Amino acid sequence: MVELKTDTSIDAMHEAGQVVARALTAVRQTADVGVSLLELDAVAHEVLREAGAASPFLGYRPSFAPTPFPAVICASVNDAIVHGIPDGYRLRDGDLVSIDCGAILDGWAGDSAVSFTVGTPRAADVTLIESAERALAAGIDAAVVGNRIGDIAHAIGSVCRTAGYGIMEDFGGHGIGRHMHEDPGVPNEGRPGRGLPLRHGMVIAIEPMLIGGGRDDYHCAPDGWTLRTNDGSRAAHVEHTVAITEAGPRVLTSRDGL
Ligand code: MG
Ligand code: MG
Repeated sequence: MVELKTDTSIDAMHEAGQVVARALTAVRQTADVGVSLLELDAVAHEVLREAGAASPFLGYRPSFAPTPFPAVICASVNDAIVHGIPDGYRLRDGDLVSIDCGAILDGWAGDSAVSFTVGTPRAADVTLIESAERALAAGIDAAVVGNRIGDIAHAIGSVCRTAGYGIMEDFGGHGIGRHMHEDPGVPNEGRPGRGLPLRHGMVIAIEPMLIGGGRDDYHCAPDGWTLRTNDGSRAAHVEHTVAITEAGPRVLTSRDGL
């Protein structure tokens, strides 16, 4: 069931979203060659703690997971697409890093992700990340009253496919509110004009996940969480929490101005 949020609730979700935005900004500023993924997790955790926010990631255990998630960020490096567990790995020159973070503030959730490189980037990684950001922007632009979920999915998928990248078919965006994952699902590929009509008050997380090698295949690592590309190619993952309003899409996790 899709729960529509009031304007007051959307304002509250914006507060939660801005905690996530600050956490991702701090992580990105800290990330550098030699910095460990655990150190990045600690930076994000401190931002949440200072804000009085809880983490919807820490202790999260969906049905597929063998263990509760042990951190407040997912840190997915190079061929890891999503759900990477932060560990003692120290970032190396040219690594492509995707950081996903959530926060719960006053009972409302925010969810956002960013991809970036450290040190000297590979040209192909820069293009991959730019494409992921364009796919996200296209999805957000399609998140308007009068459109349908399929219009968002089609907008994202068109950017990915035109650029020649693979898509994770079983993972995508989602409704968000009191819980991090709510209805409806927001696929990263689909047919325009299909699916649920978008209405004022719907809040969704839009999150393109692009596989650089161009194929859609991936597998789960032995840790039971990390999803990696089958061909070893690099991946990018970007995400925003977006409210659909009569005035247009409102990006609640925007990092603009931070
Ligand atoms: Mg996320
Ligand atoms: Mg999400």
